Formats: sequence, C-alpha cells, structure tokens
Amino acid sequence: MYHYVRDERSLFPRLNAMDIADFRDQIRLLGARYEIASLETALSFLRGEHTPSRDLCLLTFDDGLRDHYANVLPALLEAGIEGTFFVITSCIEHHVASVHKNHLLMATLDFETYRAECVRELAALGYEWPAEDLTSKAVALYRWDRSEVAAFKYVMSRCVPDSLKNRMLDRIFAQRLGEEAEIARQLYMTWPEVREMIASGMVIGGHSHAHDLLAGLSLEQMAEDIAACAGELRNRFGAKSRPFSYPYGKSDSFSQHTVACVRKNGFSCAFSTIVGGNAPGDDSFSIRRIDPKDVPAGEVVSSVRS
Ligand SMILES: [Zn+2]
Repeated sequence: MYHYVRDERSLFPRLNAMDIADFRDQIRLLGARYEIASLETALSFLRGEHTPSRDLCLLTFDDGLRDHYANVLPALLEAGIEGTFFVITSCIEHHVASVHKNHLLMATLDFETYRAECVRELAALGYEWPAEDLTSKAVALYRWDRSEVAAFKYVMSRCVPDSLKNRMLDRIFAQRLGEEAEIARQLYMTWPEVREMIASGMVIGGHSHAHDLLAGLSLEQMAEDIAACAGELRNRFGAKSRPFSYPYGKSDSFSQHTVACVRKNGFSCAFSTIVGGNAPGDDSFSIRRIDPKDVPAGEVVSSVRS
C-alpha cells in the first residue's frame, strides 16, 4: 500500500513521502521474493481458485495522487507490473481532501504554528480541544509520527466533527496555500491521466467520492458518497467491476453497512489499511495491506501473517 512517491526536489519536500529511487529498489526486491500479482490473480487466490508457487504481492496506491502517474507508472511499466490505483472522485481537478489539506499544511508550516492556527480557528468556530490525554491511542494509530504530532492528528481525524474541520482547513488552506482547484490539479492525477493509466494496463478503483470517514457518516450520506464515486467511474470509463479502498481503512473506518453499500454499487472487492497478509477464504471486502514503512529498508516481508 503506497501513498506519496516522489523525489525530495518536489513541491512540498517535507511531505512524508517515499523516495522514487527507494520505490524502484523496493519493487525489485519484492519481485525477487514474491510473484507480483495482478488484481485478478490476487482475487482468485483469495477465492481459493489459484494456488501460486510463491506468495503473491499486489501493489496498490491510494488517493489518485499525481505521483502515481508521473513517478509510479513509468517504474511499473518498465518492470511489467500491473498496479491498482484508488482515486477520490470529487478531488480530481477540483477539491483537495481534508486529509491532504492537513498533510500539505503540515509540510508547509512548522508544527507549532500549524497546531496553534488550528486550535485558534476551531475555537472561533466554537470547538473546545479535548482535555483528555489521547497520546497512547494516537501513537498506536500513527506509528511513524512523534507523539505530539500523533496526538494532534488523532484529534483532527477522530474528534473534531468533519463539518468544523473542513471549515477550519478551508480557511487556513486559502490563507496559506491559495486556490484549492489549482493545488488539486498539482496534487492529483487529472481525468485524462487516469484514462492513460487504464490504457497502460493499470487498474483504477474507487476510494470514495470525498474521502470522508465512511463509518462516521449517516447511512444516507454514506450511500450517496459511494454511489457518487461508482457513478463517476462508470460514466467516465464504462460499467465494469472495480475494486474499492476505504478512506483511512482501519477496522473502525468502515462498517457492515459500508461493505453492503460498496457491494451494492458493483465494486468487486475492498481494501482496508489493517496491517497484514491475506489467505484463501479471507473476506475480499476487508483485504489487509502492508505499508512500505512497515518494512525495514532493504528488506522484504518474510511472513504474510501479521
Ligand atoms: Zn486515502
């Protein structure tokens, strides 16, 4: 499971990104250890219909980032690998998802300044920052951040109501980074680029319409979001069974209602961010994944079960 893959000279050099050279090294190492699977092969393995001679490894990429078109696609084409890419349909050419506004602001402002601005803007909107110490929960969730940053991200993603957070982020984003649609065109693939990815043999799936925490929405809002995502992909690229990836993707980010809704909209399977490998018979609507940051540099995963 990959997100940002770029070199350090890119815009926003402080983003928590995987370097493109490390990515190329990693796919070479993965290819030596695993059979690099297509989505179709991986799903037939899960159904117990395919027994590969080596463990399978499927490469997936979340958020429809421009990095995936500019940096990942050439590397995968050279290596003859099919990647599976999950796009946020309302973001392409228009919006920056709140999770990415947060990443970009954190990569622009120093942490203390950003946190102070968030607390101030939220207070102006009538929100009181939680008094409870959430550090241990936060550190468990954000394993690669220092504890103050993890605690801040935790409150932002789990405590502040989405409507308030979005208003706060919109204000700080506009003041600090400028026009949202312009940044969206730099941050995400455009529709013609997505089309080119498909023409190059890559699989495109849905990652929701607005990248909200699906389990946090009302059933009606959730159904609307997932249907909008499926509809946009169908209208642009035709009716076809596609994979889905839950925004945030932890076990509490989606519910049985989310799964039912994803199925109803014709998605063929769904990926979580729950860490681990998968075996035949496992639920194809809660597929586990491994983040490259979970793997020590220069090594590949030796066990498929976490
Ligand atoms: Zn995402």
